[in-house]
Amino acid sequence: MTDQLPWPTLRDEERPARVGFFTDTSVCIGCKACEVACKEWNAIPEDGMELTGMSYDNTQGLGASTWRHVAFIEQSRPAEALPSAPDHSGVDVFSLAGQGSEAPGTTPQDGSELRWLMSSDVCKHCTHAACLDVCPTGSLFRTEFGTVVVQEDICNGCGYCVPACPYGVIEQRPGDGRAFKCTMCYDRLGAGQEPACAKACPTESIRFGPLDALREQAERRVGELQAAGVSGARLYGADPEDGVGGDGAFFLLLDEPEVYGLPPDPVVTTRDLPAMWRHAGTAALTLLAGAAAVFAGTGRAGKGTARR
Ligand code: SF4
Ligand code: SF4
Ligand code: SF4
Repeated sequence: MTDQLPWPTLRDEERPARVGFFTDTSVCIGCKACEVACKEWNAIPEDGMELTGMSYDNTQGLGASTWRHVAFIEQSRPAEALPSAPDHSGVDVFSLAGQGSEAPGTTPQDGSELRWLMSSDVCKHCTHAACLDVCPTGSLFRTEFGTVVVQEDICNGCGYCVPACPYGVIEQRPGDGRAFKCTMCYDRLGAGQEPACAKACPTESIRFGPLDALREQAERRVGELQAAGVSGARLYGADPEDGVGGDGAFFLLLDEPEVYGLPPDPVVTTRDLPAMWRHAGTAALTLLAGAAAVFAGTGRAGKGTARR
């Protein structure tokens, strides 16, 4: 295990401010420009073009060759949760069609019981990152920007980081064995540029910048949405008091995290390691003391027998 420290311990006046992503899923249109930009900039190999048969989503999830993944979630909302459906009886559809897009009430979701949730997922660049804790080679490291990067030329393919990640982000590439994930475009940050995915997003769903400023923006945005009646709007990963100390990449969601395939209460998986090592040390010392006592007792008994 390497001696990696969480971000706040590393910070000093010399280093740049911690940066991150605020992904506002309420304005994501599912264009996947972020996925494509990530692939192109980082020269990531293709990962198949299979469709699940349940969604238009062909990349299906984050993985060694998908560092950005746009989830397409089709929801049937309960009828009682929707405004009452318009009465279409007596509507002259041919006359409405003649009016083209000027026809009233023809937007696809009017009165519909379906809605699409779209969300561009990515590595969370956790404040307390278990992947760092367990990496034995130092391939995973914390950068001066507070992000978490894996170096492909140092990774030995042990795979310890894979089960350590509470979000299921990092993965070993089949046929290669090494682990890969989002680097928050470390090379671009070093050159003073924003990450490729944020640059490509046409709706500014992916916002990049200093984490403190992003958290303030996100608080304002969630307040605006709730005031407008979007009661499901909530922040995910923005709380520095959560089980991973807050995420460097956090989200505004429109439903429960589980709907997006995110764990509701993520916890750094190495949280209990210090206590486990302490207990193991105590157990080992107790065993040693017991063994020493047995040998000492045997020695005394042997001397007593010899005297008789
Ligand atoms: S999300 Fe997973 S891979 Fe990314 S920094 Fe956190 S623990 Fe590491
Ligand atoms: S920050 Fe860079 S590596 Fe990470 S998802 Fe965006 S484009 Fe890909
Ligand atoms: S996050 Fe931006 S680029 Fe990615 S799918 Fe949504 S709108 Fe498109």
